Amino acid sequence: MKRLAEALLRVVGPRGLVTEPTRLLPYESDGLALLRVRPELVVLPRTTEEAARSMALIAEAGVPVVARGAGTGLTGGATPVEGGVVVSTARMRDILEVNWEDRFARVQAGVVNVDLTSSCEAHALRYAPDPSSQMACTIGGNVANNSGGPHCFKYGSTTRHIRGLVIVDHRGEVLDLSEPLVDPDGLDLVGLFVGSEGTFGIATEVTVALVPAPPVVEVLLAVFSDLDAACDTVSKVIEHRLEPSALEILDRLTIEAVESSVFAAGYPKGAEAVLLIEVEGVDPEVRGTMAEIVEIVREHVALEVRTARDAEERRRLWAGRKGAFGAMGRVAPDLYVADAVVPRTKLRELVRAASEICRERNLRLANVFHAGDGNLHPNICYDRRDADEVRRVLEAGRLILETCIEAGGSLTGEHGVGIEKREEMDVYFRPEDLAAMCRVRDTWDPNRRMNPDKLVPLRFCGELRTPAPRALSNDTPEGRR
Ligand SMILES: Cc1cc2nc3c(=O)[nH]c(=O)nc-3n(C[C@H](O)[C@H](O)[C@H](O)COP(=O)(O)OP(=O)(O)OC[C@H]3O[C@@H](n4cnc5c(N)ncnc54)[C@H](O)[C@@H]3O)c2cc1C
Repeated sequence: MKRLAEALLRVVGPRGLVTEPTRLLPYESDGLALLRVRPELVVLPRTTEEAARSMALIAEAGVPVVARGAGTGLTGGATPVEGGVVVSTARMRDILEVNWEDRFARVQAGVVNVDLTSSCEAHALRYAPDPSSQMACTIGGNVANNSGGPHCFKYGSTTRHIRGLVIVDHRGEVLDLSEPLVDPDGLDLVGLFVGSEGTFGIATEVTVALVPAPPVVEVLLAVFSDLDAACDTVSKVIEHRLEPSALEILDRLTIEAVESSVFAAGYPKGAEAVLLIEVEGVDPEVRGTMAEIVEIVREHVALEVRTARDAEERRRLWAGRKGAFGAMGRVAPDLYVADAVVPRTKLRELVRAASEICRERNLRLANVFHAGDGNLHPNICYDRRDADEVRRVLEAGRLILETCIEAGGSLTGEHGVGIEKREEMDVYFRPEDLAAMCRVRDTWDPNRRMNPDKLVPLRFCGELRTPAPRALSNDTPEGRR
């Protein structure tokens, strides 16, 4: 490792290499803070060329490697593996080109999601996928996890917006798959790469499609004395073939946390749920759609229905939603964010089931979710120093997921599989499907050095190259199985 560090230092310079134990601490986990593994070193290239030369040296040393954006992932995707190194895109933050006429942008993978959108505002364009973590998460991380966000209800998740990639593979070879103006010629390798969670290589540059910012936007806040009614309202809006651009629900505990924090948005404390509905487009359609939605909301006995008066009020209402996870820090030291998609007609049933599962285990649950997509986020509050509570949290997380799958839902709404859901993949997929995934993965990375132990259950991908992170092994209090 010492020789590798010396060689990497010659490529990236002292500011591009982290080896001191204290400076490695922040890289030990992503947002799934239960799992922690210290990397041997972290390398921070600034360009594709530096990334390629670094990857070639890492290949020569034969050690495992984990790509990292901002580390906001919630499934352990960017958690290091034992004896491995991390390649971070934190110094790759340049917006390389914005083409207003043809509506695309080419950026380095470490560009923060919100910075891309902000840079387009003056030209009335935007990058549509907007994870709630957009103030921190990177475009490269969004690509690797095929991330969603409130507006993906209307615009689709990341995969719909990626036009091209530059990828550094496991040997340090550069693949240029950028075709901003046309659908891909030949095999759609870009489509294959999106959602591969760092197992196929490291994206160093991303070409994204930009969409026109709508001329008219309205945001409605509906307040309920009952979470069921908020869920039913969402099902009804969709049943009526109305097309808002976002439908988001926050429950009582989340509202209280938000309102006591810097993200306070004016949601009424004491309400059981608020539903945020955004409609965008041109008038008079926007006004017409909003009027129909208001009618449905009132039928579900909303306590209060308020339309934001201006851009500032809209911004505040959204800031509360997007800051909700951060605000939960006021409620408990740690938060386990579950993620599953369910048929929208079953929202009420599954929100109740999640609440029951947590109640039985004496756990506090807060809900804040992309209701329009049926994408639930039951957030379980806990303290990681309490081993028994950790055990109950993990059990509840698994049961919630299995209940959602049984109800016709899927394994992950938007956060990916990582380590967290790896062992549930065969609850959802057949062995033949998983074996096919392993074959594709082996084509990209035959030695399985790229983010090993993630995404596909280990028994389907053969021998482990590196031990599973200690915190997940069966004999620890945190062990899931
Ligand atoms: C408060 C909060 C709110 C969130 N809200 C949402 C939401 O609304 N929607 C949503 O989808 N997710 C959400 N997330 C999850 C997370 O922010 C997303 O998954 C995000 O895309 C991760 O980006 P990142 O840059 O932090 O990636 P990281 O966490 O660093 O990495 C994520 C995965 O991508 C891989 N990776 C990172 N960069 C690259 C690269 N350049 N090339 C190849 N692989 C790479 C990593 O190896 C890892 O497997 C939220 C998380 C938090 C903490």
